Amino acid sequence: RDLSERRRMEQTQMQTLQQMSQVMRTLEVHHRKTLQINHLNDLLQSSRSEDEALEVIGLSLAEIFAGASGCLALVGRDSRELACVAAWGEHRLVPMDFEVDDCWALRRGEVHIAAHAGDLACAHFVAVPEHGYLCLPLTVRGDTLGLLHLALPAGIDDSALGDVRDLARSVGETIKLSLSNLRLRLALQEQATHDVLTGLFNRRYLEDTLRRELHRAERNGSQLTLAMLDIDHFKRFNDEMGHEAGDVMLRGIGRILCDHLRKSDIGCRYGGEELLIIMPDSSVEAAHARLTELCDLIRAMQLRYRDGVLPSVTVSVGIAGSADHSTDEATLLRAADSALYAAKAGGRDCIVVAAAGASSVMNGR
Ligand code: GH3
Ligand code: MG
Ligand code: MG
Repeated sequence: RDLSERRRMEQTQMQTLQQMSQVMRTLEVHHRKTLQINHLNDLLQSSRSEDEALEVIGLSLAEIFAGASGCLALVGRDSRELACVAAWGEHRLVPMDFEVDDCWALRRGEVHIAAHAGDLACAHFVAVPEHGYLCLPLTVRGDTLGLLHLALPAGIDDSALGDVRDLARSVGETIKLSLSNLRLRLALQEQATHDVLTGLFNRRYLEDTLRRELHRAERNGSQLTLAMLDIDHFKRFNDEMGHEAGDVMLRGIGRILCDHLRKSDIGCRYGGEELLIIMPDSSVEAAHARLTELCDLIRAMQLRYRDGVLPSVTVSVGIAGSADHSTDEATLLRAADSALYAAKAGGRDCIVVAAAGASSVMNGR
């Protein structure tokens, strides 16, 4: 009897040990996943753009959901369509774009799991995952941001399914809060540095940037050219067409600058109808050629307004290069301003380059 008693005790101890080691393994996995999620969170907090954040998400989720295919889709501006922005694993599950209404999870605002035969399947698949899937809607303050989609591994039981669902929820929480934070941060940055009407940089941004770019040009021994633009007879335009039409014209000119400047050029609204372009690594001659193109585009612009088309406007331009003047921003701004003044005095609709010391008309129209 003693012997069988001992054997039973040993068996119970063995079972307890096995259970403990199972718990330890679960805790270990849980700990590892928590570390991975924290790491993802850290990386997302330090991301400077949405593209960077999405790259981080793709790489991290491949690690967190190792072995499983999945994707992250984000709702577009129209809030009806989703675009697949990050994917991991072997299988391409959903198309690049699909409708919000194609997903049960998004329609109901709740996680949707289809793991058994007969479970309802969403309509957004390239091919329905063989062993089932999970769709988790990502909502922040009632706004749907997107969808986290995961294909389930083969032979998953209910308890493991619960773990996957909980993990997806934690990851989803991190992603949606970080992304909406990042968007807020970028929107605030945009508002602080941009002019609302033209979409160009504002004066505050210009002052900081000009100082920085001039230092850089001095350090690198490169040339920086400044162009100051002013719309000709814009007061008359406003008087004849109305202030609202004037705003449409300013917005149109802003768009031409945004669309046609080099990536390294910085277009700013300096004041009312005066614009400034900082052109790093650009000679005065190259800047002159570029400004000629921009002036032609502005003159040829056809802007719809109410039932008609607005009359075209011209601009006068003053250009000053750091090589001819100084790498002190006030001096360079003054030189560009004097050249602009000379362009106005010279009949408008022309470009004047500020020669070292004085302004002289070059290729004036
Ligand atoms: P010039 O050829 O000498 O530059 O003549 P101008 O009429 O353009 O110059 P002036 O400086 O006398 O007038 C500038 C005008 O620009 C007056 C102002 O109403 C207009 N303006 C400035 N900011 C805005 C704006 O945000 N919207 C609109 N619609 N007009 C603006
Ligand atoms: Mg003007
Ligand atoms: Mg003016």
